[in-house]
Amino acid sequence: ASWVREIRRSATPRRPHGISVLITGASGFVGTHCSLALKKRGDGVVGLDNFNSYYDPSLKRSRQKLLSDHSILVIAGDINDSGLLAKLFDAYPFSHVLHLAAQAGVRYAAKNPQSYVTSNVGGLVSLFEAAAKSADPQPAIVWASSSSVYGLNSASPFSERHRTDRPASLYAATKKAGEAIAHTYNHIYGLSVTGLRFFTVYGPWGRPDMAYFFFTKSILAGKPITIFRTAQGGEVARDFTYIDDVVKGCLGALDTAEKSTGTAGGRKKTGAAQLRVYNLGNTSPVPVTKLVSILEALLGVKAKKNIVTMPSNGDVPFTHANVSLAAADFAYRPTTDLTSGLRKFVKWYVQYYGIKLKAAAAAAAASRKEAM
Ligand code: NAD
Repeated sequence: ASWVREIRRSATPRRPHGISVLITGASGFVGTHCSLALKKRGDGVVGLDNFNSYYDPSLKRSRQKLLSDHSILVIAGDINDSGLLAKLFDAYPFSHVLHLAAQAGVRYAAKNPQSYVTSNVGGLVSLFEAAAKSADPQPAIVWASSSSVYGLNSASPFSERHRTDRPASLYAATKKAGEAIAHTYNHIYGLSVTGLRFFTVYGPWGRPDMAYFFFTKSILAGKPITIFRTAQGGEVARDFTYIDDVVKGCLGALDTAEKSTGTAGGRKKTGAAQLRVYNLGNTSPVPVTKLVSILEALLGVKAKKNIVTMPSNGDVPFTHANVSLAAADFAYRPTTDLTSGLRKFVKWYVQYYGIKLKAAAAAAAASRKEAM
């Protein structure tokens, strides 16, 4: 009973006409920022996260502490636990679900391929089932797909109309499967579903498995970093997107999500439920070598670089978003360039890990000299 009380407290909006959102993956990077932004607006938020150890769980705990300091409840649990999901939808009539829980990252598939299927396909189905079946009214769902669905697409910038039938990684394949499953739940159960294809998101409280994060760590430690070139010797580039821009996109998608039409006695109610997919990127790809030179300038340390040909481990050479659809439908407009975004990341990084930048830079420079 106190569990239900806690959920209601956290889920109830504090502003008139506010929304109430169940956020899966709430202690993840994007989930933390979205939770805080919604709460700040006066919306209700309840988080769900299984705190898995794909990367440092203490970072997830710190994010949870931050959310708890803002009166946001994060429940420890798995999206594959359909009993738990049913209880959550029973405890509160959420108007929306922001589904961010997933096995992220591309390279981990070499170690644990099944984890992608379990969370990104099995978990997604379990969540869609719970939303479609046990909740009345059904919540509108907004979920994280990925720019990786464009795979080995060569037409650029990537538009939502482009082909997505050549995923380069298991991660991409499971996100593509998610988009197909979204179509099915929309068609059969009248579920309103919006998929967001994020493009390489970075910023404070970010993910230690992503390049900008582990490059920062290695550069500060005076350790070498590996930079990939394409098989043709070209630059690898990403449409790096700052977290605040992605958060604005998520809120825009939530605010324009229509209610599900739902089913009545097994039959679909009149009217087609919404089914949408949007790119959320920055629209200006930057070579990874440029990312490194920005970090070197911000940290005051030269990186030791190993430049090697990209192995075929699932990474794609290039991403570039066309965001005109999101711009038209919810005025999405990315405003943060890579240098200002990385400056905010570095500021957070040194504070979080208690690093004195000048001393660290001097030590890294000394270790560089020793190695020479
Ligand atoms: P993240 O790993 O920081 O967050 C995901 C969270 O989900 C983690 O806290 C994890 O513990 C939780 N989780 C994983 N499996 C779960 C399960 N089965 N049950 C409950 N919780 C589970 O990743 P992120 O960068 O915040 O990404 C959020 C979403 O955006 C993911 O779906 C990811 O695939 C997608 N995405 C991210 C990026 C990016 O650049 N960050 C790019 C494209 C897509």
